[in-house]
Amino acid sequence: MAPTGLQREAKMPARRVSIARAEPTADEAKAGSITELREAAKSCRRCPLWRDATQTVFGEGPDDAQVVFVGEQPGDQEDLAGKPFVGPAGRVFDAILDDAGVDRQKVYVTNAVKHFKFEPRGKRRIHSKPNAGEIQACRWWIDQEFDLIKPNIAVALGATAATSLLGKAVPVMKMRGQVIEREDGLRVFVTIHPSLILRIREPADKQAERDRFLDDMRKVKRLMAA
Ligand code: SF4
Repeated sequence: MAPTGLQREAKMPARRVSIARAEPTADEAKAGSITELREAAKSCRRCPLWRDATQTVFGEGPDDAQVVFVGEQPGDQEDLAGKPFVGPAGRVFDAILDDAGVDRQKVYVTNAVKHFKFEPRGKRRIHSKPNAGEIQACRWWIDQEFDLIKPNIAVALGATAATSLLGKAVPVMKMRGQVIEREDGLRVFVTIHPSLILRIREPADKQAERDRFLDDMRKVKRLMAA
């Protein structure tokens, strides 16, 4: 059958991947709801990141959302607020979702890793990238978020999210705009993390990257209903 316009546009599905699920520890049981899961994650000790962070920053949004956006990890402001996507990158993300016509109240946002990893530098806490072991440990939570929400589409925002959702490191820039179908049927749309837009200094380049991300979010909006 010839691909539809949407399949051509989003190159869907580019391939099908299988991933190994995270195993429970001895005292863990599957949660029956997002509320239960959020509560259980507050005392998670699956990796060392809980030690220095303020709190677990769990996902937020409707538990029947059509789309789940997955970022990397909470930043400094998210760590203090206990809420995902409320820092500078979150504000950029909100504005672009709004431009794309995606209602932020109807989407679920979460992170691949749910504690803030940082290095202290004077009074500042500098973001530090989570490693493969930390990403795999935190898969226990994200797998269950997807089991409970059952969205139409997952959006991997950046390399850490793509690694978590696809079970291996992937070249995000090369795969940007592609939809990968997992063996369990979850479709994963790959794009950049909005913090990349913030890091670009040259105004024209920054605007071009914002436009590309806006285009990605418009594709996601169409995929949500597909
Ligand atoms: S980062 Fe994830 S796996 Fe590690 S302690 Fe926090 S919630 Fe648990």
